[in-house]
Amino acid sequence: MHKRFALAAELQKAIEDDDLELYHQPQIHIATGDVVGSELLLRWMHPEMGFIPPDYIIDIAEETGVIHQVTEWVIERGLSQHSKLLKLGFEHTVSINISGKDLNDNSLVAHILTTVSRFSIPPASIIFELTESATAEDPKLAKRILTDLYEQGFKIAIDDFGTGYSSLDYLSQLPFHELKIDKCFMNIDVSERNQTITDMTITLASRLKVKAVAEGIETEVVANMLKDYEGLIGQGYFYSKPMPFIEYMRWLQESNRLDLRR
Ligand code: C2E
Ligand code: MG
Ligand code: MG
Ligand code: MG
Repeated sequence: MHKRFALAAELQKAIEDDDLELYHQPQIHIATGDVVGSELLLRWMHPEMGFIPPDYIIDIAEETGVIHQVTEWVIERGLSQHSKLLKLGFEHTVSINISGKDLNDNSLVAHILTTVSRFSIPPASIIFELTESATAEDPKLAKRILTDLYEQGFKIAIDDFGTGYSSLDYLSQLPFHELKIDKCFMNIDVSERNQTITDMTITLASRLKVKAVAEGIETEVVANMLKDYEGLIGQGYFYSKPMPFIEYMRWLQESNRLDLRR
């Protein structure tokens, strides 16, 4: 416990000193290969401990309340990078992971709106990703915040779909635009069962008139198995690992999606 609080204090300091990093993982329209956007993933290289997995950082941040500062930092930094790409004429979306604790925070929406207007970013180009556990604490407040975001024109994605406990109930209650199929189902080239689950989830998304995203695509075999689904978006090491913003820009430029001379 003591160690976790010490780490939280260091995390807070790292935010103040701007020592965190934000990586981008491209999201690809599987059928055409078009890049549609990127997901922002937190990275912290601790001076002594080295790389600390974001799951663990978020866990500690949630436990100690530092999560609000983490989320604000991610939104600030992420939207600044997003606006740079928009100014270069690259039409894309940015996906931001939101913690359950953020949905207990009345000031979140106001903060997002201020940041968005400061950078002149269209809300529809921002997707907030949440996991099923995210709304557990105060379901009413969580639903109100999500509905606020929805009505302001932001997009909402259900992350890691299929790994929670009450997925369908959750889907019936909340506003959302996108279902992200958890990466644990992406060994579909070996498991017929996962193939069926993936197929059903894509059908479910299409019947609900929302986008489907398959995350954790690691091989060409899997990408090929998915390319006949209309509109399906893919994300995974096969397309690209998450990378620092500068590298992401270079990656976009090399694949002729971005002209840095503009
Ligand atoms: P997530 O939102 O489900 O993010 C996807 C995770 O899958 C990322 O792990 C990504 O690096 C990894 N991934 C992507 N492609 C592949 C693949 O082909 N194979 C495999 N095995 N993994 C792949 P990462 O970056 O370690 O993040 C873990 C989790 O930490 C995220 O899961 C998210 O829940 C949380 N997280 C990361 N950044 C943030 C953040 O800024 N805020 C919040 N609240 N949570 C974050
Ligand atoms: Mg995510
Ligand atoms: Mg996920
Ligand atoms: Mg996850």
